[in-house]
Amino acid sequence: MNKGKKLYEGKAKIIYSTNDKHLVIQHFKDDATAFNNLKKSKVEGKGALNNRISEYILSSLAQCGIKTHFVKRLNMREQLIRRAEIIPIEFIIRNVASGSLTKRLGIQEGTVLEKPLLEYCLKNDELQDPLVSRDHIFNFDWASKKDIEEIDKMSLRINDILIGLFRGIGIKLIDFKIEYGKAWNKDKNKNEIVLADEISPDTCRLWDSKTEKKLDKDRFRKDLGNIIEGYQEVAKRLGIMPEVTNVKEVNFNKSSSIKFKKK
Ligand code: C5P
Repeated sequence: MNKGKKLYEGKAKIIYSTNDKHLVIQHFKDDATAFNNLKKSKVEGKGALNNRISEYILSSLAQCGIKTHFVKRLNMREQLIRRAEIIPIEFIIRNVASGSLTKRLGIQEGTVLEKPLLEYCLKNDELQDPLVSRDHIFNFDWASKKDIEEIDKMSLRINDILIGLFRGIGIKLIDFKIEYGKAWNKDKNKNEIVLADEISPDTCRLWDSKTEKKLDKDRFRKDLGNIIEGYQEVAKRLGIMPEVTNVKEVNFNKSSSIKFKKK
């Protein structure tokens, strides 16, 4: 697979073309940004960790039947992905109140939600990715009703799978952001909706089940120190990158999983 020209450079990733028009190369950078680029830094090793963690998670989702853009990892920083026309919405799924939800609505951080909460934000840096309703999405034709119905179902299924995956390694999935796009399915000879985003500690809130220690990008946002240690801990517990981590035993005796209140 030949690496072609740079097609797009975002805050944490670069996309390159390939000699196949349906495939592109995704490069993970070490740059960390927060608060819509107001806070910036380089975190050495973050790109490589996110590449591996995202590969692991997207492969696990694919095994459960979720269609994703991931094809294969090429090296420590790059993966081959399906080219997708991105739907201009960030889909946020929350299990426990944190971050902007607590600020916007005054809900106490750590409040377990009755059921997973889906939020939609318009992908627009200048407007700081504002929260929008389903009606905004349909009115301005950012996605169709059919697409959003399919995406909502996929998001809830992904949430279920990820809650279980992280629960097994002593981590609570607080919330996460995902994006979707339309990619070509050559067997079906048509476009299909696929998960077209990384899933990593950059895009999820992950708390240790027992201590509630943050293992994600909030360490950077809130100046909690040693960002990379949190990401390495996630990789270590997932059993990946043993070459840079010392695998420690995880005690599964007490399950402190996320439990939703009965209605
Ligand atoms: O900031 P907020 O609480 O809305 O973030 C919810 C979740 O979405 C967090 O896990 C955060 O890391 C993720 N997110 C993201 N990229 C954004 C906005 C939020 O990955 N642009």
